[in-house]
Order: sequence, then C-alpha cells, then structure tokens
Amino acid sequence: MSEPICSVKIPVGISACLFGEKVRYDGGHKRDAYLTDTLGTYFDYVPVCPEVGCGLPVPRESMHLVGTPAQNRLIGIKSGTDYTDRMQAYCDRTIESLRTRNLHGFIFKAKSPSSGLFRVTLYTPEGMPTPQQVSGLFARAFVRAFPGLPCEEDGRLHDPVLRENFIERVFALKRFRDDVAAAPSVSALQSFHACAKYLLMAHDPDGLHDLGRLAAAATPENLPGTLAAYETRFLSAMGELATTGRHVNALQHMQGYFSDRLTPMEREELADVLDEYARGQVPLIVPVTLFRHYIFNYQVAYLMQQYYLYPHPAELKLRNHA
Ligand code: SF4
Repeated sequence: MSEPICSVKIPVGISACLFGEKVRYDGGHKRDAYLTDTLGTYFDYVPVCPEVGCGLPVPRESMHLVGTPAQNRLIGIKSGTDYTDRMQAYCDRTIESLRTRNLHGFIFKAKSPSSGLFRVTLYTPEGMPTPQQVSGLFARAFVRAFPGLPCEEDGRLHDPVLRENFIERVFALKRFRDDVAAAPSVSALQSFHACAKYLLMAHDPDGLHDLGRLAAAATPENLPGTLAAYETRFLSAMGELATTGRHVNALQHMQGYFSDRLTPMEREELADVLDEYARGQVPLIVPVTLFRHYIFNYQVAYLMQQYYLYPHPAELKLRNHA
C-alpha cells in the first residue's frame, strides 16, 4: 500500500469566484491560491456560479436572504427584486447536470446567499440582520441532492483539522468508487472494508462497526443495495472529525499486530511518541511515520494494506500540524 496515486484528477465542484472567474456582484473574483494551485494538482474543478448561471449580469446588485430558516427568499438589496424563483429553476437544472459529473466533493464560497454552506445571515424585510443563519439557496439544493458528499467552505479550509478532514474524505470516496463501485463484487467490497478499517476507526468507531456488518452480509444477490447503503454510511462515518483521541485509539489497535516483535527500546520509543502526540507536542505525522517504519520493516501484511497509513498525498502535508 502506498499513498493514493491520482493519474486522473478527482472531479470536485467549486464556486466559480474561488476558481478565479470574475463573476462576483462587483465584477471581481475571490481566487484562492491554495485551492487552485495546491489542491488543483489533484482536483479537476467544475466551477459553478449560480448567480451568473441563472442569468444575472456582472456586475449586478448584491443580494441577501430575507425571511425565516423555514422560508426565505433571495432579494436584491437595492431594488428589492425577488430572485428566488429563477435561482430555484437554475438549481433544479444544474443539479441534474451535475449528477453526470461524478463529483467527489464541493468547495463553496462562504457567506454568499447563493453559495454559502454554513452561517449565511438571514435579514428582515426591512434589511436588518437577524441572529438566524442558513445555507445559501444553491448550497442548500446541492446538499439535499448529494447527501453525505464531502462539502466545505473556503474559509474553513484554512483550519488544518477541517482541511484534512475534507481532503481525506474526498480521497477516501475516490478509493471507494475506483476500487469497489467501478467493478462491484462482494470480494472488492470486503477487501475495501478491510483496508479502510483504521481510517474508519479514527473517524467513527460506530460507523466502522455498522460498515463491518454490511460488508460481512454482502452477497451477489444483495450487492447493489448493499453498496448503496455502504457508500451512504461510509460517507457519514468519514464526515465525523478524526480527533486526537481516536487517532491514538486506532494507532494503539494497530500496534497490537507488531508490538511483540519490537525490542524493549523500540516499544518504549513508540509509547513515548504516542504520548507526545496525545499531548499535542508533535503532529500526527510523527507517530504515523514511526508506525509505517515498523509495519514495513516487520512486513505486517495486514497493516501494510491500511489506507490509514497513506490517506492522501504526502505533498499536501495534511498531518504535519500539531
Ligand atoms: S459566491 Fe457563488 S454566486 Fe457569488 S460570485 Fe461566487 S460563485 Fe457566483
């Protein structure tokens, strides 16, 4: 097992202004170099601008959402024009066309009444901000149409934990679709599940348990339904944040496969490094690198297959933060 090799880039949706397209209400863009240059090495972006897509010009008046969390409308701030219906029609059309793009995730522009995924402020009809927050209209429709698909916002991706979680989910989904969904079989599903064991343990131990039962009960007859249920549960499990405690738990379980082969000095070194990681003194990459060394040195075949050891390309340095 090695890190995921992407000879073909992974299709990921992105708000077009983050991609650098000059589609914002003021004629500008919000290009994010980390997204376009660093992640762009691995992601094949599908840019989407709902406001331009629904026929609005550049530049245009800015808009906000007016109403309650249950019922809100997209309103032009200056003119008071209600753009909701044309945006809804655009969402319906575009969601259908995106179903053919095999998207593995979406990166949304924060705070936009169309594209914001979290915490878009609701306004009163008089134009006053309320404490209530929702998703933008397009983001809302997208999440409803693609439940569980990895989705994030530009600002949150500067948080190292959220960033790693999002990217790990995208690469995990890519592995599932390439290794199982592309050529479905019971053995492919069970082999995938075996390799994903410690990745899942670090994210969601309950999910690992549920998925283990699904994989074990798979038969050629029930395979289509089982695969659909597995992907849904897999995405929800991977959506749980992998905490320090869960990483320590996964690593300790892995250690059980080779601990008896270590010398007392090696065992002590491993315990020290795990302890330093648990205390936040070293980043995750430190214990994982030591684990990889022992696992490959002692040829622990079962662990050598674990996606946990190589969940995403090393160049992204996602496990290097303390
Ligand atoms: S936030 Fe969304 S709607 Fe606004 S310019 Fe960017 S892509 Fe277009």
